[in-house]
Amino acid sequence: KERNPHEPEFHQAVKETLHSLIPLLEENPEYINNGILERLVEPERMISFQVPWTDDTGAVRVNRGFRVQFNSAIGPYKGGLRFHPTVNSSIIKFLGFEQIFKNSLTGQPIGGGKGGSDFDPKGKSDREIMRFVQSFMTELSNHIGPDTDVPAGDIGVGPREIGYMFGQYKKMRGAFEAGVLTGKSPQFGGSLVRTEATGYGTVYFVKEMLATRGLSFRGKTVVVSGSGNVSCFAMEKADELGANVVACSDSSGYIYDEDGIDIETVKRLKIDEGERISKYVEEHPQARYFDNCPDIWSVPCDIALPCATQNELNEEAARILVSNGLLAVGEGANMPCDAEAIDLFQENDVLFAPAKAANAGGVAVSSLEMAQNSARLSWSFEEVDEQLKAIMKDIHDRSQEAAEECGKPGDLIAGANIAGFKRVAGAMLMQGI
Ligand code: NDP
Repeated sequence: KERNPHEPEFHQAVKETLHSLIPLLEENPEYINNGILERLVEPERMISFQVPWTDDTGAVRVNRGFRVQFNSAIGPYKGGLRFHPTVNSSIIKFLGFEQIFKNSLTGQPIGGGKGGSDFDPKGKSDREIMRFVQSFMTELSNHIGPDTDVPAGDIGVGPREIGYMFGQYKKMRGAFEAGVLTGKSPQFGGSLVRTEATGYGTVYFVKEMLATRGLSFRGKTVVVSGSGNVSCFAMEKADELGANVVACSDSSGYIYDEDGIDIETVKRLKIDEGERISKYVEEHPQARYFDNCPDIWSVPCDIALPCATQNELNEEAARILVSNGLLAVGEGANMPCDAEAIDLFQENDVLFAPAKAANAGGVAVSSLEMAQNSARLSWSFEEVDEQLKAIMKDIHDRSQEAAEECGKPGDLIAGANIAGFKRVAGAMLMQGI
């Protein structure tokens, strides 16, 4: 904490991960003797830069941009870019740290990185977004490349922003290097299923986890927080598997419809039109809107999928969920449950799918996008979706095995951390200091 003051989210992520590695470290002193932990918690490179741009009135605005290149032991840095006013070095470092393990778990050759800006895309015109993005990429382009660092989207960064970034990178380099960014439109090198991958992948992972107790999504009541990219496609897949998705939210409030949310309406309002979720009830008057988003966890459900943001589900919310008979939690967002909430779930035998395993589907398909770009090929939707399913099953099974091996059967948090760590640490040992 002294070395990294004012970085609570980073401390939280590191503490949670390192804690579960203790049994492994006790049995394998070579990790300690080679300074693996000290090297893992210190980014290989952290870039912070000025992003000046002009708004539609001609006024000059200045934001701060970041890119953390955390660990490249198993491949080029890979991780999304987040545009949100809460972005700071702590948020970027926690996300980048988690990304190392997540990327390792996918089995793909990708290292860990993350980036973003404290720019708030809300209320900005399309031209303002474009000018901001061009300025952001003008500096970022000095630090990325298909074999060095490959950014993608995250909160506030979707296909439009990725498109503007790619256009600016192409101008700066004078070359069409498709593999420098993932999450591109399929019209210029993007992979099919990338948009759906994180949400679908979370549900595929939870499906595997439920099966270990002979359970499935069919007939279950599901609550999904958020209504962005991850949430919408988690809702879509859960619905397809026979669940009843009764509530979702945005940062203003949540909607509840006991007969099931109309997911197409949510997608159109939130993803296509950038509206508030409250508008849903104008089109679906049988649904109800509540203007306090954390209260979404008071809706009784069998499966909770927090898919919005970090620390959105605390101990109090966990207690209510458990008292309502919760069976399982799948973290679609990064670190959405705080440490106390997780403890409570584990004490009450709730199945728990941790983010770095459950939401790895997005980056896994990003890696498949890189492979398609290298080969100058495009695979079909079905082909990519099948690979995604196989990857999510593999992540689940390896996390489960690692949990058993360390004497914590069923603890997928420990299992995911250990399985992710072993691959990265092994590569670091082989590559020297
Ligand atoms: P989006 O920007 O598409 O959506 C975020 C959603 O969460 C919006 O609906 C937003 O509402 C809502 N939200 C934000 N804060 C809160 C809050 N406090 N309470 C309730 N809702 C809130 O982002 P993504 O869907 O891409 O990302 C969501 C999470 O998933 C993040 O943690 C991200 O890091 C993680 N993730 C994303 C991946 C991806 O492929 N996109 C990959 C792996 C992880 P509003 O409209 O009001 O802002």
